[in-house]
Amino acid sequence: MNIPDTKHPRIVIIGGGFAGVNLVKTLANKKVQVVLIDKHNYHTFQPLLYQVSSSGLEPDSIAYPLRKIIKKHKNSFFRLAEVEQILPESNEIITSIGHLTYDYLVIATGTKTNYFGNKAIESYSMPMKSVPQALNIRSLILQNFEKAAIANSAKEREAYLNFVIVGAGPTGVELAGAIAELKNNILPRDYHDLNPNDMHIHLLEGADRVLPPMSEHASKKAETFLKRLGVKVSCNTIVKHYDGKTVTTNADLAMESETLIWAAGVTGAPIHGLKSEAIMERANRYNVNRFNQVEDYANIFAIGDIALMPTEAYPKGHPQVAQPAIQQGNLLGKNLLRLIDKKPLKPFVYKDKGSMATIGRNKAVVDLKHYKFGGFFAWFIWMFVHLMSLVGFRNRVIVLFNWTYNYINFDKAARLIIRPFKK
Ligand SMILES: Cc1cc2nc3c(=O)[nH]c(=O)nc-3n(C[C@H](O)[C@H](O)[C@H](O)COP(=O)(O)OP(=O)(O)OC[C@H]3O[C@@H](n4cnc5c(N)ncnc54)[C@H](O)[C@@H]3O)c2cc1C
Repeated sequence: MNIPDTKHPRIVIIGGGFAGVNLVKTLANKKVQVVLIDKHNYHTFQPLLYQVSSSGLEPDSIAYPLRKIIKKHKNSFFRLAEVEQILPESNEIITSIGHLTYDYLVIATGTKTNYFGNKAIESYSMPMKSVPQALNIRSLILQNFEKAAIANSAKEREAYLNFVIVGAGPTGVELAGAIAELKNNILPRDYHDLNPNDMHIHLLEGADRVLPPMSEHASKKAETFLKRLGVKVSCNTIVKHYDGKTVTTNADLAMESETLIWAAGVTGAPIHGLKSEAIMERANRYNVNRFNQVEDYANIFAIGDIALMPTEAYPKGHPQVAQPAIQQGNLLGKNLLRLIDKKPLKPFVYKDKGSMATIGRNKAVVDLKHYKFGGFFAWFIWMFVHLMSLVGFRNRVIVLFNWTYNYINFDKAARLIIRPFKK
């Protein structure tokens, strides 16, 4: 892999997501050699993927080159590769571009979409975990509008204009709201040959309320906002089958739709090679101690979504959201330097900064420890937090410009089918 040997210990980090990137930053120009490996050459800001899917933002405003992040780190290297296997006995990894030895290995591979073993849904639904997948959804939505405009029958048109989103967690809720805004603001202006009333957005959720990880207050408010935008919300509804045409649910609900967006869950993305006891099978996450050390391995660590660290406050592990990943990345950087200096390590304690979701213009919900609120102020806070969390000044400026432009003009300007989606 063309990484030079040095006198410093080599730390190999697999994954340039929130956890990996924050770890890399903490190790900048320290007396260690850092090798960051990712199968993409960019960091993805996943919380805004739904805006790419719904034509609100271009992908390059939410993605950031990993090499640019480490450009001033003289001790760091980046390799574009997929890690295929870990050989812990020889402290080595096997990647798509060759082998590499490590002194310390950090696994920060995040999660992948969970279809709960349903092959039909996996084949025909649209996941939204990466930039290419978000672009697929954008293309499909716009292609469906074009096909609806030339449909031969009302039934055919209905299938193109029925958008079914499965999973009413923050991702599903945000996407449903954004697609509803396309219906309310874009369809009447750009598609004179379509009747907006023919377009339906269905949000299906297996639990008894939307936003199950958030407070009841947030759920109720979000559902009200969604209904106000025209989204049809069905709770206690589990999708059983989808063949690319008909969605079948447990609630005897069957609807014709050319688009099923799957936002119903994620599962860990572990790498082959460690003992089976190191992985919690149900969640596909590595069992780690309070220092993010993988069970039974002194020099292998896991951070972020892929790590399962049961604590008193979080017996089932931390929520799979950005903050634990960022905080674990930061602490592990300091702990690795302490480990190398033979100093005692500091245990991880999660600082919950609250959670939030936006449903559309002026509509969001925020849960803080002692205060829960929704509406315009929540939406403003949501925008500010997401803007400041984006990686890179350029991205922040572009997103701020786009949001301002879209807010004033009720527009979503990235309505481009650049790479048509083929089912
Ligand atoms: C659509 C969506 C919306 C979300 N919205 C929010 C939100 O609003 N707020 C919030 O806090 N959280 C949100 N999350 C969750 C949040 O994005 C994750 O918790 C966070 O990204 C976890 O960070 P991570 O570093 O553990 O993993 P990730 O950010 O997923 O990064 C993992 C990295 O590992 C790389 N990788 C994986 N396997 C390999 C391999 N074998 N070889 C090489 N590279 C590999 C991937 O390419 C990726 O770059 C959302 C997630 C999604 C999908």
